[in-house]
Amino acid sequence: MAQEMTTRTMPGPNTVALLARRQQAVPRGVSNVAPLFVEEASGAVLRDADGRRLIDFAGGIGTMNVGHAHPKVVAAISAQARRFTHTCFQVAMYEPYVTLAERLNSLVPGEGPKKTLFVNSGAEAVENAVKIARSATGRPAVIAFEHAFHGRTLLGLTLTGKVSPYKTGFGPFAPEIYHLPFPYCFRCPENKGRECCQASPGSVDRQLAALVSSESVAAVVIEPVAGEGGFIPVPAEVLRSLSTWCRNHGVLLIADEVQTGFGRTGRMFAMEHSGVAPDMTATAKSLAGGLPLGAVTGRAEVMDAPQVGGLGGTFGGNPVACAAALAVLDVFEEEGLVARAARIGERVRARFLGWQARFPWIGDVRGLGAMQGMEIIEGLASTAPDGRRAAAVQQGALARGLLVLTAGMYGNVIRTLMPLVISDEDLEEGLGILGAALEEAA
Ligand code: PMP
Repeated sequence: MAQEMTTRTMPGPNTVALLARRQQAVPRGVSNVAPLFVEEASGAVLRDADGRRLIDFAGGIGTMNVGHAHPKVVAAISAQARRFTHTCFQVAMYEPYVTLAERLNSLVPGEGPKKTLFVNSGAEAVENAVKIARSATGRPAVIAFEHAFHGRTLLGLTLTGKVSPYKTGFGPFAPEIYHLPFPYCFRCPENKGRECCQASPGSVDRQLAALVSSESVAAVVIEPVAGEGGFIPVPAEVLRSLSTWCRNHGVLLIADEVQTGFGRTGRMFAMEHSGVAPDMTATAKSLAGGLPLGAVTGRAEVMDAPQVGGLGGTFGGNPVACAAALAVLDVFEEEGLVARAARIGERVRARFLGWQARFPWIGDVRGLGAMQGMEIIEGLASTAPDGRRAAAVQQGALARGLLVLTAGMYGNVIRTLMPLVISDEDLEEGLGILGAALEEAA
């Protein structure tokens, strides 16, 4: 594919024509990272509508961990599509749904019997986990965190801890959702860095005192690494003390592993880094190699709380998506992608730290495994977020042939979500481009 492609930096004529049609046909509320239409993709390389080659450090926002058009995933999709594409699991069941549930039940952290429900997206996975937690505890309230992102449905948005642009104009939101501060050590309100995160379970009680009685709380929902919030890993000690607090108060712990899941952090699930087993885990994104599929996996007695008919949906656990997911899990094993994520992470992190030593406006380098971020700040005199410089780096990278995403409350974090199958050459080329874009933005 590489030889036929051009390296033109401006949108070519096909892209310009498509952009004009997109403006007419699609609402502006759906934002686009770049004036880019993809024609074909393979591994970690995209080819656009004008034949331009781009290295992909975005992976469809962390969805393409096994890479674009992986032959095994494509074969599984085609084979299942030839057999049948849909019956609705509630109407006529099929084996891939059950097999995939069994595999997730054994992969997701936690001892004892587990069960899995399939849905269509990350937002739906989180929503269903909340429904199940309410049903299992008989309690209404849910605790989430500032900087969190849990999806764009109304409950997902309510749980999300960032207003603009996600929530603006879309209220009123669901009741009984309470936000606690996220353990964001780089911007610690107490100015103590990691020290104040040695939180004891008692600190959750103190924070909740003004919000809600712990006896009303059904669940705590947390991303082990805030994704959209700016790649902020939750310190392991915080996850452990949260888990203890939940256990002491009969509250269920829900891990949102939609972005961290499936190998991205150098473990199959990010919660494994802390040794904490949540009561339920929400997954989606990389689960089905680009097909829409989400899942809630949890302790069997919790998952069985809702009444018969209380859970489901027309497309949830679609057979083609389940077949793709089974192939994705095979690829993970066969290609050792979890270990590969850790190695990618080490390389990326070393480069990021090198750049941080040169550019005083790289305030923080952080992440877990291949989920690495650089927080761009004003500079030595001020740690104020500099979203404009981050955007300039992103655009500079794009002009040179690298697609990379930003994140964070102020869009000032550059983050890496490259497919884990990325070759060493493509990884080096991408990092080289990112370095050149940083240099240009200096
Ligand atoms: N949770 C997390 C942590 C996410 O990163 C996302 C998507 N960025 C979601 C939930 C929502 O997933 P979806 O877009 O599939 O609804």
